[in-house]
Amino acid sequence: MRIDLHAHSAASDGTEPPSGVIASAAAAGLDVVALTDHDTTRGWAEAAVAAREHGVALVRGVELSCRHGGRSLHLLSYLHDPEHPALLAEAERVRAARHERARTMVDLLAKDFPLTWDDVEEQVGEGATVGRPHIADALVALGVVADRSAAFSELLATGSPYWVPHHALLLRDAIGLVLEAGGVPVLAHPGAVARGRVVTETEVATFVGAGLAGLEVWHRDNPPAERARLEALADRFELLATGSSDYHGAGKPNRLGEHLTDPTVLELIEGAGRLEVIR
Ligand code: AMP
Ligand code: FE
Ligand code: FE
Ligand code: ZN
Repeated sequence: MRIDLHAHSAASDGTEPPSGVIASAAAAGLDVVALTDHDTTRGWAEAAVAAREHGVALVRGVELSCRHGGRSLHLLSYLHDPEHPALLAEAERVRAARHERARTMVDLLAKDFPLTWDDVEEQVGEGATVGRPHIADALVALGVVADRSAAFSELLATGSPYWVPHHALLLRDAIGLVLEAGGVPVLAHPGAVARGRVVTETEVATFVGAGLAGLEVWHRDNPPAERARLEALADRFELLATGSSDYHGAGKPNRLGEHLTDPTVLELIEGAGRLEVIR
C-alpha cells in the first residue's frame, strides 16, 4: 500500500485542480492520497468524485496555519467534520488574514517591481486560499524571478523587507478545535529547519497535552537527523508517525509518493476520525 498523506490542489497553492491531484496520485501509483489544502476544505467534493473514478482512496484533510512560540507552524487535520462551526470560522478568519496580508505584501513589492494586485489575482483559483505562492507565480509571470523557489529565496521569505506576518490560530487551540470537530491532528513538518526553529521536545509535550495525535516524520523539509529525532519523539509520546510528500503540483519540486505512511498508521487515523476514507 502506497499512502501519501499531504497534498495541495489549486483550492490553495497547488497548481492542479483537486481532480488533477487525484489523477496524478493514480499515475504515481498511490493507493491512498490525502488532500490537505491550506485552511480550506473546498477541494474535497471534486476530489471525492475523482477518487472513485481513479480507484484511489481519498483522505479528506486540511493544513491549518497556526502559530506557537513566535513562529508559524502548520497543523494537519484528517477526517474532521468540515461544517464544525468554530473550526470553520477560524479557518475563514485565517483565510481573510492571509488575503489582507498578501495585499500588503503586494503594496510593498509594487514600490520596487511592476506588480499589481490584478497580477496576483490571475494566479489564484476560484475561491482558493491566497498565499505567498500566488505572489510568487505573479512575479514569475512578469519575468521578475525564474520560479517559485527563486521568488521565495529572493523576495518572499520570512524576514525579507517585503514579508508581512498574518494572523493564525494558536497551535494549542487549533488542536482542540480539530478534536472537537472529530479530526485527527498531526503536526506538519516539525523538523523543517529551513522554515525556522524546529519543534522541541518540550513543545511536543505541550501539544500532546492538548491532544496532538501525530508527527509528520518523513517529509523532505525534515533533514535526516530530524527524522530520527522525531521518530524517537513519536515513540516516546506514543504518537502516530506519518510520511508525506507535501505535493504542490508544478509549484514545488515535491513529488507524490516521495515519502509514505504505514498502512497501520492510516488504520489508526481512520479509526479515530469522524469521517471515513473514501474508497
Ligand atoms: P503563506 O502561507 O502565504 O505564508 O505561504 C506559505 C506557503 O508558501 C507554504 O505552504 C508553501 O506552499 C509555500 N512555500 C514556502 N516556502 C517556499 C519555497 N521556498 N518555495 C516554494 N514555495 C514555498
Ligand atoms: Fe503550500
Ligand atoms: Fe505546511
Ligand atoms: Zn502543505
